[in-house]
Amino acid sequence: MTEFAHRIAVDWHRTLEQVLERARAAGPKGLVIFDLDSTVFDNLPRQARIVREYGQHKHLEALEACQPFHFTSGWDLTGALVALGLPPDEAEGHQKELKRFWGARFFTSDYCRDDIEIVGAPRYLHEVVKTKARIVYVTGRHEGMREGTVACLAKCRMVLPGEGAQLLMKPKEVQDDDAFKRTAHPLLAELGTVLAAFDNEPRHVNDYALRFTDALAVHLATDHSGRPVKLQDAVVSVPHFAY
Ligand SMILES: [Mg+2]
Repeated sequence: MTEFAHRIAVDWHRTLEQVLERARAAGPKGLVIFDLDSTVFDNLPRQARIVREYGQHKHLEALEACQPFHFTSGWDLTGALVALGLPPDEAEGHQKELKRFWGARFFTSDYCRDDIEIVGAPRYLHEVVKTKARIVYVTGRHEGMREGTVACLAKCRMVLPGEGAQLLMKPKEVQDDDAFKRTAHPLLAELGTVLAAFDNEPRHVNDYALRFTDALAVHLATDHSGRPVKLQDAVVSVPHFAY
């Protein structure tokens, strides 16, 4: 949970129900947009695997025990090394090399298969499809990760591309996530009526709220990139999809 926990209303699940109500009313022209990372997928198993492999590579036995719960402050790799028992200055010393090791693995099909569901996401996605509205996954992942992404959607029993969903990915890894998501907006407007958009990244969910003013912009209060961005008042925060 993040600093946005205070935005979660006691009846937060009502927003999820409202999305389904709107989807039922709209039928096949309705679109419900979902980001992937930290929205429907929890990426910490992937993150922990990379630290374990770094431990093997550097012969640091303590790191080979890394689990998702060692990430006590979001994505922070150095913090995880400290949680695994490395003295802070030693952990700091690994920062650059570990970041490089991480960068060569994290954004790949092979590693993204390790992701698990955000609780309730598979069931909720199937509820959306039952309404006849369509799901569009809009992700900052690049096309090179398509195979692993589809495999992980299947592993988590989520709605697959071609079976009620479409998957929009960045053509190239080097592209900026913010810009890519904004360039997807006109395409979404062409595909149908955007009823709701779910994203954990404050900047992205704000962009949806500004571009699709009639849609519900829903923020997943899981974690985010850490940039200090204030959420628009119109954005509703939810903790997960289980209700
Ligand atoms: Mg995300």
